Amino acid sequence: MSLNNTILDTLRELLPPQRPIGLHEPSFGDTEKALVADCLDSGWVSTAGQYVDRFEQDLATYTGIPHAVATVNGTSALHICLILAGVRPGDEVLLPALTFVGSANPIAWLGATPHFVDCEAETLGVDPDRLESHLAEIAEVRGATCWNKQTGQPIRALMAVHVLGHPARMQALAALARRYHLTLIEDAAEALGSWRTGLHSGSWGQLTALSFNGNKIITSGGGGAILTGDPDLANRARHLTTTAKRPHPWAFEHDAVGYNYRLPNLNAALGCAQLERLPERLAKKRRLAESYAQAFASLPGLHFQLEPEDCRSNYWLNLLLLPDAEQRDALLAAANDEGIQLRPFWTPLHRQNMYADAPRMELPCTEALFARGVCLPSSAALGGKE
Ligand SMILES: *Cc1c(COP(=O)(O)O)cnc(C)c1O
Repeated sequence: MSLNNTILDTLRELLPPQRPIGLHEPSFGDTEKALVADCLDSGWVSTAGQYVDRFEQDLATYTGIPHAVATVNGTSALHICLILAGVRPGDEVLLPALTFVGSANPIAWLGATPHFVDCEAETLGVDPDRLESHLAEIAEVRGATCWNKQTGQPIRALMAVHVLGHPARMQALAALARRYHLTLIEDAAEALGSWRTGLHSGSWGQLTALSFNGNKIITSGGGGAILTGDPDLANRARHLTTTAKRPHPWAFEHDAVGYNYRLPNLNAALGCAQLERLPERLAKKRRLAESYAQAFASLPGLHFQLEPEDCRSNYWLNLLLLPDAEQRDALLAAANDEGIQLRPFWTPLHRQNMYADAPRMELPCTEALFARGVCLPSSAALGGKE
């Protein structure tokens, strides 16, 4: 029997019989219904209200990061993080090529340039050792600014991404960012509930973005948040996301070009209810990952991605690495044909039209993971009844 047939048999055995089986489906219970109904009854559905405050406090408490500012989605949270990092037109921002396009787009919105760096096999995130060699070759610090000697542009920030929920090697990345005077931003859109050395994702960056889109580990319909330990950055984030309006009982005065990025109360109510279920959901996702790991361990030629050392990952999406792209494509076709949603990685960003000319280092690990990776159905419900 071919390897792909063995994988399909394993999936059929492990997954429940209904088809289609989605890659990552949300699930809701009575608390969600109660809190959303409460919001409708109160009339507070829009960009202010008690659930927004509560969601922000609950996120800060859960992650241990002092300040949270809720936003309409994860991309807008990253946009504000980049503005607060001082990213300006012409700047470069380092980020992995292997990430969702939402990591890079807000860099381009600011007239800045994404500068793609490679990932590592163990964490799927930025490889700090190879980034260090890359910077030694192309970068130079003058005053308090890091310059790209090849392009003549400043490199302002480093955006680490916790890919599929696995924490990147943040201690090493934070040390590099300090050495090169780069603001460290964490794209933790996929990493709520993921910890490294007992610290939640977002504990190293000056600014961090979360997402609560429908496919993430918990959802508020659409939504995101900015996390930071710095009260001044938190205040500026809240101000900029609220059209930069000066507080006043009735006057409309704005002291900057702001954004309408605040999370509506209706979405925050859903988010509060979902956050209550996070621990239970994490346990189920861990159980599912363990079943996959066990089922695929004995099949030669395959690699199931486990959480990195010293980490507790949320296993947002389970990743299986196949021998090559040909096998990947055949498996994707066969599984999707019978209603089991498997997905490849995002096409790496340097291969997308609009970023094809962006500066980058050699990207062998990105290319290999893209060629071989398949994401498996990962809904929490597959790890047991909720
Ligand atoms: C989902 C996601 C985003 C964007 O979040 P939205 O809420 O969809 O705007 C950004 N980066 C990564 C890595 C993501 O997975």
